[in-house]
Amino acid sequence: MSPEEFRRQGHAAIDWIADYWAGLDDLPVLSQVAPGAVRRSMPTAPPEEGEPFDALLGDLDEIVLPGLTHWQHPRFFAYFPANSSPAAILGDLISSGIGAQGMIWATSPAVTEVEQVVVDWLAQALGLPEQFRLTDHGRGGGVIQDTASTATFTALLAALHSASGGQARESGVGSTRWTVYGSSQAHSSLVKAAMMAGLGAECVRSVEVDPRTQAMDVTALERLLADDIDDGCRPLFVLAAVGTTSTGAIDDVQAIAEALDGVDAWLHVDAAWAGVAAVCPELRDRLLSGVHLAQSIVTNPHKWMLTTFDCSVLWVQERTALTNALSITPEYLRNPASESGAVVDYRDWHPQLGRRFRALKLWSVLRTYGLAGIRAHIREGVELAAHFADLVVDDDRFELVTERSLSLVVFRLVEGDEATLAAMHRLNESGLAYLSHTVVEGRTAMRLAVGSWRTTRADVDATWAALQAL
Ligand SMILES: *Cc1c(COP(=O)(O)O)cnc(C)c1O
Repeated sequence: MSPEEFRRQGHAAIDWIADYWAGLDDLPVLSQVAPGAVRRSMPTAPPEEGEPFDALLGDLDEIVLPGLTHWQHPRFFAYFPANSSPAAILGDLISSGIGAQGMIWATSPAVTEVEQVVVDWLAQALGLPEQFRLTDHGRGGGVIQDTASTATFTALLAALHSASGGQARESGVGSTRWTVYGSSQAHSSLVKAAMMAGLGAECVRSVEVDPRTQAMDVTALERLLADDIDDGCRPLFVLAAVGTTSTGAIDDVQAIAEALDGVDAWLHVDAAWAGVAAVCPELRDRLLSGVHLAQSIVTNPHKWMLTTFDCSVLWVQERTALTNALSITPEYLRNPASESGAVVDYRDWHPQLGRRFRALKLWSVLRTYGLAGIRAHIREGVELAAHFADLVVDDDRFELVTERSLSLVVFRLVEGDEATLAAMHRLNESGLAYLSHTVVEGRTAMRLAVGSWRTTRADVDATWAALQAL
């Protein structure tokens, strides 16, 4: 493809995206294709001779569109929406165009330094405690990772390295009986992290939650810790969830930190979805109180902060905990800047070596919308969810299952589990909207999570009207 052809096709690709967005409202949110249908509509072998790019653009409509669940649809309310935005997409496109591999500072200083600045901007914007910020006199810092799952895994590896006095990376996890804690509502990435770290899923203690709030029962945590210590186990890592995936429950980080007084365990805050809402001062205390006592915190701009997937930010109080656990320098990566200690090499802050210039899309979002624009977006999501929760409360056939958390409403049909699931499936199959489900204290519920900047009150009302009419 010549540079001129690239320019022409690039315009066509952007046009395709803009047209796709313009038509989203009319598409069924949930893909209706049968398993294998997409695969069968494609040739079984790659083309021998190159084709014009137009051919691929044409196939997007024919082959790909029917097989898409439209995550950017204004009535996508399932899971947690992963909202994108024009500003983020352009930043991401430029990152692809630059094509730099920022594994170490020396392989493109701007990739590292722009990232350092934007994750620090985000820390300020959220009101994170000073000690997580990368300052010349401080010991903390932040890094963009692909997902919160990787960030939690990374934090666990750093904890394991620190607690084992460096033994774990040299000779493995050994015979110490490490234990890991999270509430029964903690994200599955915690157990997966323990599996991947070689600790095994069985070392993860599932702490009971308060049945009403679904937040961790800190007394139960204290009991488990005491029992495990009596038993000769070594508590290693505790995950506090700030906004659980199921119901948006918020663990009391301060109380959890106090329960860890005298226990040498790493406290990690998983605020993958809810953390970005701390950009609004009126929500901040609820989300971040006690976070200064944690060793690490993760939040995903790629969920609710307009930043095209993938973009997850991990901050730590001790950046050496990451580098001690993860740095390894083959000869071909030795360079004067790294040896001088004057630069950060982000490859030592996560499992993989290579890294994209992800900071560009976050930079673009922060500059294009400004904090005022981002706050307005978060507040809009919260208001729309509050409006929906009011509608649920006003209809005797429905009930809230937990109190609304930010932009997430968990509700059900009073009639019962089967009726609730059946109504949700009918709504999803209608294509009008897409909700997901969960089980809370043994009862099936639907989840409506607002996140897209495209969602309006009319979208919420239409979804509610459809549910009422089912
Ligand atoms: C979505 C979510 C995760 C996992 O996020 P990924 O970035 O997809 O790994 C972890 N924890 C919570 C609370 C989440 O909501």
